[in-house]
Amino acid sequence: MATAEGPGRASIAARVDAQLPQTQCTRCGFDGCRPYAEAVARGEASINRCPPGGRPVIEALSRLLGVRAVALDPDCGEETPPRVAMIDEAECIGCAKCIDACPTDAIVGARKWMHTVIAADCSGCELCLPPCPVDCISLLPHPALPDELPDAAAIARRASRFRALYEARTARLERDRQRRRAALAARLDEAGVRTQAP
Ligand code: SF4
Ligand code: SF4
Ligand code: SF4
Repeated sequence: MATAEGPGRASIAARVDAQLPQTQCTRCGFDGCRPYAEAVARGEASINRCPPGGRPVIEALSRLLGVRAVALDPDCGEETPPRVAMIDEAECIGCAKCIDACPTDAIVGARKWMHTVIAADCSGCELCLPPCPVDCISLLPHPALPDELPDAAAIARRASRFRALYEARTARLERDRQRRRAALAARLDEAGVRTQAP
C-alpha cells in the first residue's frame, strides 16, 4: 500500500485519481473520486472500493501501486453495465432537487418545469434518486453503450468527459458562492453594517 509523504503522496493521489471513473458516486465511502484517491495514497483505503471502475480499475491500481489485485469489496456495491437516469416527466413536479445533486450537470430543467436527463452526460451515479420527493427517476440500460461491463478503455473514455463536467460544475458553484458573498457584503455595507474580510 502506498504511504509516501508530502509531494510524493500528492503525486500518487493524482495518479490514482487519473485511473478512477470520475462519477463522484461516493460508493467507495468517500466524498468523490479525489478524496478516495487521497485515502488510497495515504494507505488508508484499499484499491477495491470502486464499483463503477470494477475489475479494470482494481487491476490498474494494483499495477500502479504494486499491490495485489483483490475482488471488489461487496460492501461498496457491484459492477454494472452502463446505466442512465430517466425521469418520468409526467410525474416530475419540477422541484429541481435532482439538479442540485447531479455531479455532472446532466439534468436540465427549471423550477416548476419538468426535468430531463442528457444521457451522454449521465454517469448513472444514482445521486439524484434519493432527493427526488416523488420517486420519478429510474436507472435504465444506457441507450448508446453496450449492455456489458466496461473495459479499461471504455471507463477511461467516459471518465475524461465526467471529469470535465464535474470540474465545470465545481467552478460554476464557486463563482455562484462568490457572487452571493459579494451581494451580501454589498447589502450589509448599504445597511451600514461593518463586515470583516474573510
Ligand atoms: S467512481 Fe469510484 S472512486 Fe469515484 S466516487 Fe464512485 S466509487 Fe468512489
Ligand atoms: S442524472 Fe442522476 S444518475 Fe445521472 S449523473 Fe446526474 S445524478 Fe448521476
Ligand atoms: S427531484 Fe424529481 S420531482 Fe424534483 S425536479 Fe427532479 S425529477 Fe422532478
